[in-house]
Amino acid sequence: MFFKVEVAYFKTLSLFVIVIATCFFVGCAISPQRSYIDNNGFEQDGYYESIPSLGKKGYLIKQLAQEVYFFSTGAYNNLFIVTSEGVVITDPIKGKGKLLKKAISEVTSQPVRFMIYSHSHIDHIGDAYLFAGNEVQIVAQMETGKALKRYKDKNRPVPHINFGTNYSLTIGGITIELIYLGEGHGKGNSVVYIPLRKIMMYVDTVTPKSVPFKNFAYTVDIFSQMKGIEKALKLDFNIYIAGHLHRPGSKEEMKEVLEYYRASKKASIKALKAVSFLAVRGKSKTKDVERLFGEYLDAVAEECYSILKPKWKHRLMGFEAFSKGHCDIWISYHRTQKSE
Ligand SMILES: [Zn+2]
Repeated sequence: MFFKVEVAYFKTLSLFVIVIATCFFVGCAISPQRSYIDNNGFEQDGYYESIPSLGKKGYLIKQLAQEVYFFSTGAYNNLFIVTSEGVVITDPIKGKGKLLKKAISEVTSQPVRFMIYSHSHIDHIGDAYLFAGNEVQIVAQMETGKALKRYKDKNRPVPHINFGTNYSLTIGGITIELIYLGEGHGKGNSVVYIPLRKIMMYVDTVTPKSVPFKNFAYTVDIFSQMKGIEKALKLDFNIYIAGHLHRPGSKEEMKEVLEYYRASKKASIKALKAVSFLAVRGKSKTKDVERLFGEYLDAVAEECYSILKPKWKHRLMGFEAFSKGHCDIWISYHRTQKSE
């Protein structure tokens, strides 16, 4: 009996030492509850990554695979693919087109043959005109093409090739698949996938170690956007490029952001159940019924934010800035489209 107790004690002690050592070297999965308010009442930052210095160049490039290069200006990024038959570029970022040209000339003298737009937004493709010409075929999803026709923006020439759900582009022995996963971050936002190299690009919906941008990146359909990420995760890839950040992400990091999408959905349902309209009305001083309703929705979003905060503030960037907006989007979804 004594022997058994001693063994058990020893096992417990060993486990404790292992847990402490693991926490010391790689960080604990379960972080202690922490206070984020400093002495001046400032709600401190949670998780963050600093953008590395880009030096005089103003950009960084990194070869990800034999033909595939990552280009970043710190906050924005894209991919370009260098083959023996020419270069394929994606998303010529507004104001950074000249830098992209410079970056390409660092690795090849091949001309640009294809330009892929992930979607129509100015910030991502505003320097397209610098690459347009007779030799360059522009490819985008048809909704992106439609939007660009409507905008009539000389900086964003309309695509020559407009695809529906899929388009396969082969050049210099490498195939690039373009896949439309449905509405979400506007219409037409598509994945650029290089199966041979297990690399993909999915812009503006799943930035690594970050919550989604304001109001789920101004989503037009939050449900479809989440489904799109689930479909993207079914592709066989190891690395992805999100359109933002100074580095690519891993599949695990995309999964983590999807987990946040689901958590914010769940938290909004919980908050809608927890916050009573009558209780808000009981405390309110307003006689304006619209304002009263606004106070109720704010109280639900505040509750949803409090549910998310302990787990997510220290895991993802942007939590303080955007999580209440995410709660708002889900609250309106659950109030108007589907309650659960
Ligand atoms: Zn966008």
